[in-house]
Amino acid sequence: MDCLFCKIVSGDIPATRVYEDEQVLAFPDIHPQAPTHLLIIPKKHIRSHAEAAAGDKEMLGHLMFAAGELAREKKLDGGYRLVINTGPDGGQTVDHMHVHLLGGRPMHWPPG
Ligand code: IMP
Repeated sequence: MDCLFCKIVSGDIPATRVYEDEQVLAFPDIHPQAPTHLLIIPKKHIRSHAEAAAGDKEMLGHLMFAAGELAREKKLDGGYRLVINTGPDGGQTVDHMHVHLLGGRPMHWPPG
């Protein structure tokens, strides 16, 4: 499958694996938008959050929990932002579902 993040999961494209277990992988975003900017992805290919199915519920919770653990590990004690861009209107550019973990600076609202 011609998917950038599947290639990171398989190791065909290098990334610093900051967290990994049987279901999820986390690595730094190549164009960081904050002092901490990690991507947390399911190892299983799911195109977007919109395509997650009932059978993915456990994995979705796992992804969210991993994001929290990483935020604690990175000592984002002042807070952080989790973002799941979904589809063209959501600004998704890589068609493999991912959670952005952004922190280390104050965030603004509304996002662009
Ligand atoms: P999206 O816009 O929410 O789909 O986010 C995709 C993210 O993937 C962007 O923030 C990109 O900077 C990031 N990205 C693209 N290619 C790579 C890569 O090879 N390694 C790490 N991050 C990447």
